[in-house]
Amino acid sequence: MTQTITRHIEPVLLARRGASIVGVVEPALCDRLAGLQAPITVDLRFEGDTEGRPLASGLLEARVESRCERCLQPMEIALAPAVHWRFLRPSDPPPAEVAPFEDVDLDGTEVDLVTLVEDELLLALPPFPRHAYACGEEGTARHFIKPQPTAEPAPGRKRPFSGLASLLGRQPGPGTDDGQESN
Ligand SMILES: [Zn+2]
Repeated sequence: MTQTITRHIEPVLLARRGASIVGVVEPALCDRLAGLQAPITVDLRFEGDTEGRPLASGLLEARVESRCERCLQPMEIALAPAVHWRFLRPSDPPPAEVAPFEDVDLDGTEVDLVTLVEDELLLALPPFPRHAYACGEEGTARHFIKPQPTAEPAPGRKRPFSGLASLLGRQPGPGTDDGQESN
């Protein structure tokens, strides 16, 4: 079950046999996918469509270490994209139907399965990863987001750090609202 998959595969042959590919891709092979925590799990089934074109369907699973966009702390992202590939040879006419298959160019007989897997996982990465819980509720940034009483004339863009200079100039210290030392 934890066998490393064959990198260069022949989709036409695999589809003709109705073959399956079950195995893993080692993180060291995936330069473009940073933060891989464990081998990628690959589970694919090959078959031919009615026109004889090779299809591959299945599931990929990977865990990627990333950074939360909200609290900037490390977080782990679980990726599990479903795969629906249709391999098209240059001689194949463009297929009329589109979904659910994603077309993969087949120049020659072999494709690089590791590259395909990596492509698919890169597409599945969330553009702005965030913890599932409300991690931004308390954090270091809270002290700096203070509403200023002096109104900004510009109605459009907020300048979040415009008040910071005056804050720092007034009080050289970390204390903003916790300096209640009056008796
Ligand atoms: Zn977070």
